[in-house]
Amino acid sequence: MLKVAEGKVEVYKKYDVNSGLLSSTAIIQNIDKLIQNETTVAVLHARFPNFRKVQQEYAYQAFDSLLVKFRSKLTKISDILMADRLGLSDILTIAQTNKEKLPQLCRQISKISQASYTINEQSLYLQSYIGAVHSKKSFSRLALLQSAYNTMVKCHNLGKKFAIANVSLPTQSVVSDHNIERYLLGAVHNQDFFLHYQPKICPVTKGWIGCEALLRCNHPQLRAISSDVLIQLAERNSLIYELGYFALRNSIQQASEWIIHSPNFVMAVNISPIQLKDPHFVSHIKQLLNLHQLPARNLELEVTESCLISDELLAIDTLLQLKNMGISIALDDFGTGYASFQYLKKYPFCALKIDKSFIDDIEINTDDQNIVSAMISIAKKLRLKVTVEGIENQNQEAFVIKQGTDLVQGYLYSKPISAPDFEKKLFNQS
Ligand code: C2E
Ligand code: CA
Ligand code: CA
Repeated sequence: MLKVAEGKVEVYKKYDVNSGLLSSTAIIQNIDKLIQNETTVAVLHARFPNFRKVQQEYAYQAFDSLLVKFRSKLTKISDILMADRLGLSDILTIAQTNKEKLPQLCRQISKISQASYTINEQSLYLQSYIGAVHSKKSFSRLALLQSAYNTMVKCHNLGKKFAIANVSLPTQSVVSDHNIERYLLGAVHNQDFFLHYQPKICPVTKGWIGCEALLRCNHPQLRAISSDVLIQLAERNSLIYELGYFALRNSIQQASEWIIHSPNFVMAVNISPIQLKDPHFVSHIKQLLNLHQLPARNLELEVTESCLISDELLAIDTLLQLKNMGISIALDDFGTGYASFQYLKKYPFCALKIDKSFIDDIEINTDDQNIVSAMISIAKKLRLKVTVEGIENQNQEAFVIKQGTDLVQGYLYSKPISAPDFEKKLFNQS
């Protein structure tokens, strides 16, 4: 009897009794072992924000039962090494996967959480936000867990289903937030920022018919930080207004020169949610278009779902004013958020951009093929112009062209390049 009881205690120490998931002590020991053995792993922190709703609307145990079913699907994914419940509504997962396969794994987990589960004859699902980080030799267990957690919170704030930690972001101990802010301020004032341009291609003629302006930074301490991280840092303080205005001013001026050669050329500029809330945003754009004599139809603004979640009415109003001026409004990173299709109905979009994460494995993944094909066909029915981004090889290109995409963008055609390099290629086109 004693032996059985001792055995049970061991099991309880290792597993969460309600959900059958590994307990946090067990997983922490396992992470340490993997780090010691220098195994490259990914740590994924998932939070289920609808857990209280499930508990309130159904039985208290319903959420635990959901987790049990979720776990059994999760552990069928071959890359998953272990999964552990953290607190009430979070799950930590360790997977043995390389960097390239991580987005696909995140999407798989997100998809199984959103599947319909039958609990007490009710059909329930889990909503999840996933933050993932890939281990590096220099990472401690604490750094990995902290990074996965921070990325999950960031993902929640952005309204995305998953986000992958950007390892190029210096850790807080190397460059503090305070210093980054100081460097950012300096970089804005010293004009260390500039734009690169990546072409958007017509799949039929292969002509460069537009481009996307992407921010780059020359500041010695910020150079290593990717532009999406820099933008997030700038969004934490008012510097995003300066950076956003810089990108708009320069890209509009540049477009006004390029349309002399290519009158239908469309310049696309990324807009941060904070800019969209600025009451002067529309008038700023009007002024810039007037100043540089750029027709509104030569400008496109790319917004993500995160621009739309916090104040829907304000966002609709602003976007409508811009659209009525003749500016094209595109929904960027389509398919990565929660409400992509709902947004298409609610907002005055003219175009959408299918996210790169759907393209990465499209040659081998039939789910991705079906999703992309459905997205393109719905967009066409809604008369939206579709761009597929992140095209890196000819097989990916052939697939999306067959599905009828209007435009393609990606390293296969060109990486983002400087204005003089872009101009040379643009002007050399027949
Ligand atoms: P995004 O708007 O989704 O931009 C596309 C990103 O994918 C760019 O990264 C681009 O260089 C990269 N990319 C394009 N084709 C390929 C490909 O075939 N393979 C791969 N691996 N990558 C490809 P970048 O320039 O680092 O920008 C990252 C993000 O930073 C952008 O994502 C955008 O959200 C943000 N960003 C950049 N410039 C601005 C800006 O001026 N304003 C705002 N608000 N955000 C910006
Ligand atoms: Ca974009
Ligand atoms: Ca994008």
